[in-house]
Amino acid sequence: MTADLHCHTTASDGTAAPAQLVRQAKDFGLKALGITDHDTVSGVQEALDEGKRLGIEIVPGLELNTDFEGVELHVLGYYPDLEAPALHEALARMRDARLSRLRAMLEKLAGLGIDIRVERVLQIAGEGSVGRPHVAQALQELGYAKDIRDAFDRYLGPGRPAYVSRYKLTPEQGIELVASVRGIAVLAHPGSAGRDELIPRLVQTGLRGIEVYHTNHDKEMERKYAGIAEEMGLIMTGGSDYHGPGRKEGIRLGDRTVSLTVVQELKELKEKMR
Ligand code: AMP
Ligand code: FE
Ligand code: FE
Ligand code: ZN
Repeated sequence: MTADLHCHTTASDGTAAPAQLVRQAKDFGLKALGITDHDTVSGVQEALDEGKRLGIEIVPGLELNTDFEGVELHVLGYYPDLEAPALHEALARMRDARLSRLRAMLEKLAGLGIDIRVERVLQIAGEGSVGRPHVAQALQELGYAKDIRDAFDRYLGPGRPAYVSRYKLTPEQGIELVASVRGIAVLAHPGSAGRDELIPRLVQTGLRGIEVYHTNHDKEMERKYAGIAEEMGLIMTGGSDYHGPGRKEGIRLGDRTVSLTVVQELKELKEKMR
C-alpha cells in the first residue's frame, strides 16, 4: 500500500508547497502521490519536477466540489491534459467566482463588526485557489476563532452568518469537464454525501472510478463502496485528503493508501483515451 492519491497543497487549501509535500511523501515511504487541489492544477508541475528528482511517482489531478440540488459531491479528475485550454477556461471561471464570493463573505463579516481585508486573505492563500479555509485562518489570527474548525462552526459553515455559497458545477458537468480534457473522473469520498443512488447516472455520464479508501470512510463504507465499484466496473482509488496541520485535524499524509496497481490502472485507462 504505497500510493496516497488524494492530497492538497498550497495551490489550494493545503499548507505544504507541492515540492515540500513530495519530500514528505518520500520521507513517509510512499511510492506514488496524487496531487488533487481544489479547482486548480497549478501545483502539479512543481510536484512532477520534485517527484522526478526523488523517485516518487506523481499522479496529476484535481478536485471539483460539485453541487447536486444542495448536496455536495466531490469529483476527482486524474491525468487531465494539463495544457488543455478547456480546462484552464473552466478553472479560471471558478477562480473568479471564488474571488467574488470572498468579497461577499468579507462584507458579511464586516456587517458583524469583523474587519478583514481582501488583501490579507489573498496573502494567506498565496498562489492558491482562495477559499473558506483562508478566511478561517484570518479569523483565527484576529482572535475571532480558536481554530479553523471553530471559524467554520461560528461563521463560515452553511447556515452560519458569513456563509456564502459559491458557483459550482453539477457532478455531471464536473465529470464531463474531466472527460473533455481526457482525464479520469473519480467520485471522491462518496460516504460524505451518502447519496449512493446517484452513482449509476454518474457512471453513465463518464465516471470511471470511486474513492473507496478515504479518511472519512469507516470499514463498513470501504466494503460497501468496494462492492459498488466491483459491480459497476469502477477503479477503486484511495487517499488521505491530507491538507496539513491545523487544516483538517488528525489527518496525516499516507493515512489512506492504495497499491501501485491502482496507479497502473489509471494510467492504462488514460492511454486508452488517446
Ligand atoms: P471552499 O472551497 O472555499 O468552499 O472551502 C471548502 C474547504 O474548506 C474544504 O475543501 C475543506 O478543506 C474545508 N472545510 C470545509 N468544512 C470545514 C470544517 N467544518 N472545518 C474545517 N475545514 C473545513
Ligand atoms: Fe479542502
Ligand atoms: Fe473532497
Ligand atoms: Zn480533498
